[in-house]
Order: sequence, then C-alpha cells, then structure tokens
Amino acid sequence: AAKQAGKNQFSYFTREMDERAHARLQLSYELRHAVERNQLSLCYQPIIDLRTGVMAEAEALVRWKHPSLGNIAPSLFVPIAEECGLINAIGNWVFQQAVGCSRRCSQHAKKLIPIGINKSPLQFIRQDEESDWLQYLERMGISANSIIVEITEGLLLHPSSNVNKMLMQYAQSGMRLAIDDFGTGYSSMSYLHKFHIDYLKIDQSFVHDIETNASHRTIAETIVIMAHRLGLEVIAEGIETRCQMEILAQAGCDFGQGYYFSKPVPERELLDMLPRQFIH
Ligand code: C2E
Ligand code: MG
Ligand code: MG
Ligand code: MG
Repeated sequence: AAKQAGKNQFSYFTREMDERAHARLQLSYELRHAVERNQLSLCYQPIIDLRTGVMAEAEALVRWKHPSLGNIAPSLFVPIAEECGLINAIGNWVFQQAVGCSRRCSQHAKKLIPIGINKSPLQFIRQDEESDWLQYLERMGISANSIIVEITEGLLLHPSSNVNKMLMQYAQSGMRLAIDDFGTGYSSMSYLHKFHIDYLKIDQSFVHDIETNASHRTIAETIVIMAHRLGLEVIAEGIETRCQMEILAQAGCDFGQGYYFSKPVPERELLDMLPRQFIH
C-alpha cells in the first residue's frame, strides 16, 4: 500500500510539474509579444533621503498586464524572460523608458533625479548594439549619472571579463552601481572593494521585522557602518512603518524605500510626488 501511495504521489507531482512547465511555456510565448503589444509598463518607487525627507531618486519596476490573466508579478515573468532569451529585449526597453523618466523628473524637480534599473546577470553576457547603454545615453545627450544600475551580489562573485569590463566602463562614465538585496546572497564582502560600488540596498527581509528582531537590527546597523567606512551609501528597502524608518534613520542609513513612503506608481504620479515632504 505504501508503494502504491508513493507511486500515486509520484504521478501526482509529475502531472503538477507538467502543468507548471506548460503554463511557463505558454507565458514565454506570450511574453515574446508583450513589448510590441504594449502590455509592459513601468512603475517607479520613490527613494527618500532620510535626512531631508525628500525624494532623491526612484527605482523602475517592470509590470506586465496580461490580456486574460491580469497583472503578472516580475518575480514570475523575469525568470521566464531570462530562460527564453527575452531579458535583453525587455531590459533594454526598461532602460530606455527609465532614461526618459529621469530626464522628465529632473526637469520637473530642477535637480537630477536618477532612476535605478534592475539588471539581470544574463544581461551582462551579450553585448549587442541595443544593449550598449552608455552609447545610447551619449546619443541622447543624457548624462550617465542619471542611471543607477542595480545588480545582485552573485554577479560579482565570479565575474567574467565581460562583467569586469562593463562595470569598469559604467564607473568611468559616472553611471552608478547599487547592490540589490544586500545581505541575502553570499556576502563574501571581498568584492566590495574590487568594484566601484556606490550603494548597498539593505534587503527588506532585515527591515520588515527590524522593530522586534534584534539581530536583524544589528545587521542593518552594521551594514550602514561598514558601507560608510568603505565610502558607500545605503538604501533600506521595504520600509513599511514609521518606526522602521526611524530606526534606520537613527542608524545613519542614507535613503529609504517602501510602502511607508509610497508604493511603486506610474510616472505621472511620481512627478506629482517630487516636491513632497515625506517625513514629518
Ligand atoms: P527588487 O529590485 O528588490 O525590488 C523591490 C521589490 O520590493 C519590488 O517588488 C517592490 O514593489 C517591492 N516593495 C517595495 N516596497 C515594499 C514594501 O514596503 N514592502 C514590501 N513587502 N515590498 C515592497 P516587484 O516590483 O514585485 O519586483 C520584484 C523583483 O523583480 C525586483 O526586486 C527585481 O529583482 C525584479 N524586477 C523588477 N523589475 C525588473 C526589471 O525591469 N528588470 C529585472 N531584471 N528585474 C526586475
Ligand atoms: Mg531593485
Ligand atoms: Mg561612482
Ligand atoms: Mg531588493
């Protein structure tokens, strides 16, 4: 009977896996057309200077509105885009939109409002014309410091020569680099001084319970101290309460991002928020 149950269980799981694989395949076909069919859009989440309480920059977050399934989370479709070779096309589209947004925000605010863009490790592999972001900025006459590239720690652990080359070019151009989800990866730390990094983004898993979890609070405080001693600035992700914001500001954290200030919004709403005082 146990053998029988085991067998049933096995076939149950394979059927479920089959369905999942099929759903992913279906999505990958539809994702192929998402850009040209105008189904992708960008939302922008304000990043607040915790000293002054005003917006200093914003992060671009891609959205996919599927015609029948509705909104599909990037945590679901970005990995599909990576698997089926669409991440360059989508990533380059995101980049060009974000460049335009930075230009309009900066005009509106009468100061530079850089936009953070998430860049997948796979986007560092192929270097075609479309993926040459520095060349695009130069053509458009836009300063490279209007873009902050967000990467994860994994990219820097065993960097290929191409990764080294691109990050070197970025740094020389004035484009800035942020380490996303900092503290959740390998935390080898040795890469921190090998590359020209500008920001560490404290992962939201340390922020969400910072009021009650003493070790997470210590980790966040220690990241800030270490970053500052290395000459980097710190952005805390996922701030949802005033208390979390105050603890992080107290710790000397430079910037904050999260629902407490604003959820990710369309560009129109971002522009309206530029003059706002977020901390009272
Ligand atoms: P991420 O870059 O770490 O982005 C932060 C995520 O946290 C976003 O989720 C954002 O909506 C969410 N968030 C912001 N504030 C709060 C908060 O206070 N509480 C909570 N619980 N969550 C908050 P989102 O938009 O679903 O994006 C998820 C991930 O998908 C991103 O994580 C990023 O890794 C990836 N992603 C998004 N857009 C792009 C893109 O254009 N290209 C690539 N390669 N990846 C992207
Ligand atoms: Mg990010
Ligand atoms: Mg720099
Ligand atoms: Mg993150």
